[in-house]
Amino acid sequence: GWRSRAAFKLIELDDRFHLIKPGMKVVDLGAAPGGWTQVLVKRGAQHVVGVDLLPVEPVSGADIIEGDFTTPGMAERLTSMLGGKADLVVSDMAPNTTGHAPTDHIRIIGLAEEALHFACEILADGGGFIAKVFQGGAEKAMLDVLKQAFAQVRHAKPPASRKDSAELYVVATGFRPQRLG
Ligand code: SAM
Repeated sequence: GWRSRAAFKLIELDDRFHLIKPGMKVVDLGAAPGGWTQVLVKRGAQHVVGVDLLPVEPVSGADIIEGDFTTPGMAERLTSMLGGKADLVVSDMAPNTTGHAPTDHIRIIGLAEEALHFACEILADGGGFIAKVFQGGAEKAMLDVLKQAFAQVRHAKPPASRKDSAELYVVATGFRPQRLG
């Protein structure tokens, strides 16, 4: 079975957008407890590395790094483990909430932007990016970077995501490294 309810969100996103392909190198940011990692392996990704602040029980067919994805040297560590750049970076990360809505909003946006910048460092030409964002989707600044760096940018709320939650996912494909300014 899947380790998390969240696994169904990635299944639904992938059924709709067909992002996970056999042979891919994939980085899973915010992997604990490992549901998305399981889905990535099951759908044929050749090499999956999950990163989380929290420990993740081993997932057969995947490597796990326990740590903060913003740790210096993380991009190099991942590309060396994968034997090259990633074809897909997925992020289901969420920051710890404070209960103070404006602070939480800023933290959520900040984390999504950091994940995007990180993805731009480790993605191969043509690569894809899936990330959890909130409220009206990506903020304008993030959307500008996304549209510059990827050929196609869409938003989706998978049915498994609670209707009363403000979360949705940005799905970007066709990474174009040369467009980064
Ligand atoms: N997709 C996962 C699954 O299906 O099992 C669930 C992920 S959970 C909603 C979000 C995770 O993001 C948490 O485990 C949290 O520790 C992690 N996270 C938040 N900030 C992080 C950071 N800076 N570096 C690594 N992981 C982080």
